[in-house]
Amino acid sequence: MTEEKLLKDIDQLLLAHKKFFASGATMDMAFRVKALKKLKRAVIDNADRIAEVLSADLQKPLFESYTAEAGYIVKEINFAIKNLPRWAKRKKTRSILFTLPSRNYIVNEPYGLALIIGPWNYPFQLTFAPLVGAIAAGNCCLVKPSEIAEQSSALIASIINDTFEHDYIAAVEGDVKVARALLERKFDKIFFTGSPAVGKIVMEKAAQNLTDITLELGGKNPCIVDSNVDPSLSAKRVIFGKFFNAGQTCISPDYVLVHKALKEKLYHEMQRWLGHFYGTDPKTSPDYSRIISLKHFRRLENYLADGAIIAGGVYDETELYLAPTILEVNDLGKPVMQEEIFGPILPVIEYASLDQVEEIVAQNPNPLACYIFSNNRSNVERLTTRIPFGSGCINDTIIYKYNHHLPFGGRGGSGMGKYHGKYSFDAFSHQKAIMARMFRLDPSIIYPPYKKALQFFKKLLLR
Ligand code: NAD
Repeated sequence: MTEEKLLKDIDQLLLAHKKFFASGATMDMAFRVKALKKLKRAVIDNADRIAEVLSADLQKPLFESYTAEAGYIVKEINFAIKNLPRWAKRKKTRSILFTLPSRNYIVNEPYGLALIIGPWNYPFQLTFAPLVGAIAAGNCCLVKPSEIAEQSSALIASIINDTFEHDYIAAVEGDVKVARALLERKFDKIFFTGSPAVGKIVMEKAAQNLTDITLELGGKNPCIVDSNVDPSLSAKRVIFGKFFNAGQTCISPDYVLVHKALKEKLYHEMQRWLGHFYGTDPKTSPDYSRIISLKHFRRLENYLADGAIIAGGVYDETELYLAPTILEVNDLGKPVMQEEIFGPILPVIEYASLDQVEEIVAQNPNPLACYIFSNNRSNVERLTTRIPFGSGCINDTIIYKYNHHLPFGGRGGSGMGKYHGKYSFDAFSHQKAIMARMFRLDPSIIYPPYKKALQFFKKLLLR
């Protein structure tokens, strides 16, 4: 398709979405539930196909496809269907003395036309989970999956375009050019998941129309391991969280800060669990992914020189295979400690005091996630209150993302806005506040001339 034709198609789709939204069809709760059920049916019917394309794009293990992609989305849909009537209900709130008599309430209003732009690492979860929020809240929506996970992008587009009327929800495939063209157009809500660098472009473009945005970005997620924990169970949970999808997870532990008293034991246990999870040759394991592209592979390969290899370090460029690698790092100025790794390399740095931990984490502030392994409550309290981060977990790693009762999102460089469960509904709704006044009482004290009322209000308000 020529660029000109594509841009024309996008404009036509947006016009159709505008018209559809204006018809008021999405305001009906039964309509939204029906759309969510259709999406659920489509995801379940395509679950095997989803696993196939994820295997082609990333050699994603079947377990990870069913749990972190298709299964994850169905869980979000079920929760939304069950709770939508409660979420969408107008909420009464109280009056204050000054505004009596009045009824006060909040109406959740859909933004209107939403745009979702997704990344390649969990291509289905990270486009469909926000789509659940967009549908539940009553928006029309255009979805652009990442072109980097090529087969996944094609399947996402065909699932969406075969399931919904195009004037309500549609998908457009394409690369940066298409993403840029979309961002030139006016939406009422943009939900972007991807890198901080592109996040800045999205924010800049959204600013031109003052469009509401949610930015789900990345960062360097610290994993702090105190001296007083069980080294085996801690190592097991760190290794699981780090090498799930070969470390290509936004909330993957980026680096480990381990108390010097536990370092050697932790190394030993991490190596033991690596062997247990992926065997002596992880390349032959059905449970270990590949790197998405040659560009990312080469970027990761360069990090191997930034420290001493404790485990792994083996690779095969022709297969985009990089073994799960543990790297002892002493120089914090090395690129591996300056950039988000987003791959199967785990730098380990020893520390002696929590002051040192805070100093190291502050070099890459506002991580998306933070993990703290400790049995010392005051250490946990200190680190959770003093380190700013998006969300996190005590004594475990990525598992917390599955709990849709917790809001998910970053702060500063790791993003803004939250979603999952009810928070996805909120992300795509404007909370419209309404006060309904009565005619029966109208104290003249608030109207000009103010002279008499001034002293009274000064006393009342400046207390
Ligand atoms: P990316 O920013 O390169 O791409 C994301 C999307 O933006 C793609 O659809 C792409 O086509 C589009 N895009 C790329 N360049 C663009 C440009 N110049 N203008 C407009 N659009 C553009 O990110 P990625 O490589 O797909 O994903 C990796 C990053 O995403 C990591 O930083 C990771 O931490 C982050 N991430 C965050 C989350 C989260 O939930 N917070 C989840 C997954 C990934």
